[in-house]
Amino acid sequence: MMPVYMADYSIGVDLGGTNFRAAAIDRGGKVLEGISGATNFAGGREAVLGDIVEAIEALRGRHGRQTLAGIGVGVAGFIRIREGFIANANNLPYLENFPVRDELARRLGTKVILENDANAAALGEKWVGAGKSVDDLVLLTLGTGVGGGIISGGKILRGAVGMAGEIGHTTVVPGGNPCGCGNQGCLEKHASATSVSAMAGMMHLGVDMSARAVAEMARLDSEEGQKARVIWRVFGESLGAALATLVNIFNFPLYLLSGGVLPAWEFFAPAMLETVARRSFTYRATQPDTRIAPATLGNEAGLYGAAYLSWLEE
Ligand SMILES: [Zn+2]
Repeated sequence: MMPVYMADYSIGVDLGGTNFRAAAIDRGGKVLEGISGATNFAGGREAVLGDIVEAIEALRGRHGRQTLAGIGVGVAGFIRIREGFIANANNLPYLENFPVRDELARRLGTKVILENDANAAALGEKWVGAGKSVDDLVLLTLGTGVGGGIISGGKILRGAVGMAGEIGHTTVVPGGNPCGCGNQGCLEKHASATSVSAMAGMMHLGVDMSARAVAEMARLDSEEGQKARVIWRVFGESLGAALATLVNIFNFPLYLLSGGVLPAWEFFAPAMLETVARRSFTYRATQPDTRIAPATLGNEAGLYGAAYLSWLEE
């Protein structure tokens, strides 16, 4: 898609519950400068918005106001895209149902785009990451929860309100683990870093183990190692069920996975791919043109995507 407005650089912001990052990124995808800081949770809404505005002002001051294409902000939560607010912000409760986009735009005197963080990450992977060569992809971020972003025709698929792509809350185990969203058996309750940690606890492998630690354990030639490998296989089966559904719906060429579980790829990927192949005729019929692969930008994906929003939205 050709940008109508060819400015030199854009500013992307990744706003999380514990920290935020902002970066000036040029049209070619080169990071000119990055800033990070702690999200002043205790200070509340005013302190957090003030810190973000300050970071953006600093970048704009150093890289120029005339050549700035725009500002994109990625944040976890259900985004009401038309109104520009976060309908459900578990990590940032004081920003919930507050006009974040318009308030930032007012203080900065320029247009601001607010977007779900996983959608922004998917766009980042499409722009400069593992999805560069395709126009259609799905990204799943497998971390504390499971975020989803869908890129169709090079653009974010948002749905009517802006809440499309909540793949983490699709059912993979009917009657499975209860989820905060009200459903049972959500993907994020069966295939997130948190679910791996919970399974390790239930199997008496350790309390509050990180997904990385369970991945390390899976390498052991012991009873513990055996149990850890079972966890990753169950994880892979749940993830595979979700991916089979996605392949059936979209027939996209690429499905990317990112997040804290990637170090265990070798332990969950065989069960995942076997499950996708078994459950999805479309997957089998489109080999080798349907790929499931690790994303490549890691935590940077959301920053790139947030910055790129300005060029997509003009
Ligand atoms: Zn859910």
